[in-house]
Amino acid sequence: MSNVFEKLQDEMGTYRLQNRIAELERALKDKDELLGNANRTYAFEINRLESELAKYKSTVLLNCPFCDGDAVLMQEVCGDDYYVQCMICDAQSVYDNVKSEVIMSWNKRV
Ligand SMILES: [Zn+2]
Repeated sequence: MSNVFEKLQDEMGTYRLQNRIAELERALKDKDELLGNANRTYAFEINRLESELAKYKSTVLLNCPFCDGDAVLMQEVCGDDYYVQCMICDAQSVYDNVKSEVIMSWNKRV
């Protein structure tokens, strides 16, 4: 690849949000059991947590699904597309001109 890349991520912010994503995923793991209790408070809370999780998953890059390496959002210099690349094994996401689409697609490949 001969493109020159620009690093776009705030690494500290990413670290904090990755921890929050892990926390939300743990909390939502038992949601079927919680909903089985037919408690409206749980349903409301689960809904809230799921919205928060969806929001983060469209803005925060999870680590590489292949090697757990740090992933970085890149932008083509000679084009409008963004993509995600693993800094360790060079795995790449799809290319797209919508940042959140690229991030969500990368985060789904686990
Ligand atoms: Zn990797």
